[in-house]
Amino acid sequence: MDVTDHAEELASDLGVDKEEVTADLRNLLEYSVPLDEAKQSVRRKHGGGGGGSGPTPSSVDVDGITTDHGNVTVTVRVLSVGTRTIRYQGDDITIREGELADGSGRISYTAWQDFGFEPGDSLTIGNAGVREWDGRPELNLNESTTVAVADGTVAVDHEIGGDRKLIDLAAGDRGRNVEVRVLEVDSKTISGRDGETEITEGVLGDETAKLPFTDWQPRAEVQAGADLRIEDVYLREFRGVPSINLTEFSTVTPLPDPVEVADDAPRLSVADAVDSGGMFDVEVVGNVLEIRDGSGLIERCPECGRVVQGGQCRSHGAVDAEDDLRVKAILDDGTDTVTVVLDDELTAEVYGGGLEDALAAATEAMDKEVVADAIAETLVGRAYRVRGNLSVDDYGANLDAAAFEVATDDPADAARAALAEVAE
Ligand SMILES: [Zn+2]
Repeated sequence: MDVTDHAEELASDLGVDKEEVTADLRNLLEYSVPLDEAKQSVRRKHGGGGGGSGPTPSSVDVDGITTDHGNVTVTVRVLSVGTRTIRYQGDDITIREGELADGSGRISYTAWQDFGFEPGDSLTIGNAGVREWDGRPELNLNESTTVAVADGTVAVDHEIGGDRKLIDLAAGDRGRNVEVRVLEVDSKTISGRDGETEITEGVLGDETAKLPFTDWQPRAEVQAGADLRIEDVYLREFRGVPSINLTEFSTVTPLPDPVEVADDAPRLSVADAVDSGGMFDVEVVGNVLEIRDGSGLIERCPECGRVVQGGQCRSHGAVDAEDDLRVKAILDDGTDTVTVVLDDELTAEVYGGGLEDALAAATEAMDKEVVADAIAETLVGRAYRVRGNLSVDDYGANLDAAAFEVATDDPADAARAALAEVAE
């Protein structure tokens, strides 16, 4: 049976014109709608019932889009447009990514060709594919998608354009613009997909926060102390924190006035810090609840630095393990908990002695645990102010401490103050 036969059968069932049914059916099949669904859709259109949700690209509100939709038509405002090259099936393809919104909500999109729209444009986008990305629906604009200027301006509650402060950036953001001071820059050679490539890495700051960055197309303007407006960057997670990426499409413009950079790390409640999904240089205040296993005097693999037990590394087997000091402390501020990790230097400070002292104490007691016990006695039940990089993964939240000091303010007050500040 070909399309014409199906159409003939449908037309006689429904008692409508065969040409019209054929056209409808062909139209749906062109959109790659499966034949059975297409037939159901045509039945419904002509009042023949058929049940189920229709695959016909219908006009929907953004907040009504689910991953059950095949294709949709939306009338939206463009919030952001980011440009990026990805390698897809062996070819480099330039894609546009960002967010669209209407009065009901917003949604991410990927456009596989340049439709020429810009932030602020009001558009009717026909036959956009819906796919699931990161558990949420996203629009896929491809060669069968139509983009037309909307009849009027689409009113939205969301910010139009990509300008953001550093504290408001999150992994997954596309097409963002920042005004920053370059705080650190390092050149690095990496083995990329096209052989050895020179990139630069470092830290950017503004009055709200600091974030690491990578410039994949190193440019001379990006040097320590420079004040810059950088347009069209994207954010991805790197070592658990959001990282700013400059691509060949990013533009860098020196600013006439210096950018103010915060000396202090932003103070957050533990709950807000954890909710952010990872932060570079953040400060929290809380009480140490307990010291976790693997604290105090520990052994590391000399090859990979992993903590080993009984001289056995998971990657390197039996190794001549090296002694080291570390603390993993659970910190609680009443909103949530985080595991604070202290390196050898910070551990020596709270222990009141270095590696040699710890080894001597362990030898005398014939028990390594005396070191962790002594640290627990000092820390548990006391309030500390911790500053460092927070990473969050499936196993929990870790705050890699750069500074760890006794807090003079009550952690509960501090958490409330941090919450109030965020709410402002
Ligand atoms: Zn190892």
